[in-house]
Amino acid sequence: MYEEKENPTDPKAGLNILIAEDEEYNYLFLSEVLSDYQVNLTRAYNGKMAVDICAKDTSIQLVLMDIRMPVMDGYQATQLIKQQRPHLPVIAQTAYAMEADRSRALEGGFDDYLSKPLRKADLLKIIDQYAPENCPLREKTPSIVSGREGLE
Ligand SMILES: [Mg+2]
Repeated sequence: MYEEKENPTDPKAGLNILIAEDEEYNYLFLSEVLSDYQVNLTRAYNGKMAVDICAKDTSIQLVLMDIRMPVMDGYQATQLIKQQRPHLPVIAQTAYAMEADRSRALEGGFDDYLSKPLRKADLLKIIDQYAPENCPLREKTPSIVSGREGLE
């Protein structure tokens, strides 16, 4: 027996992540890695969509933001999102792994930075780090420990 929040089939149970990514392959990689975890993914295909979704959907808890996207890039989108929701964690994902780009990403209002090609371990670590305390990143199959927590 688990509390409702422990039920992996409950769509409300997981962490609500917005992925802003224009390239199909990159999105599929992210959704594949996260398919083992209790997350609810929303996708934006450009920065403008990401801004609009964050404004309308207050349940979004974390954003993975591509830098290079059509219509509006990740820098501009993040600035607009942060004006509305300064505490919403926004993680940049960019092909540029150079230190200067990391600095630019952090100056640009991102909370942190993932360089492409993304590595599964880095992705999971950073999501875990920025997930809200009351909604940590959890695997879909509840462990015995989490089941006990659910019974308390
Ligand atoms: Mg892109």
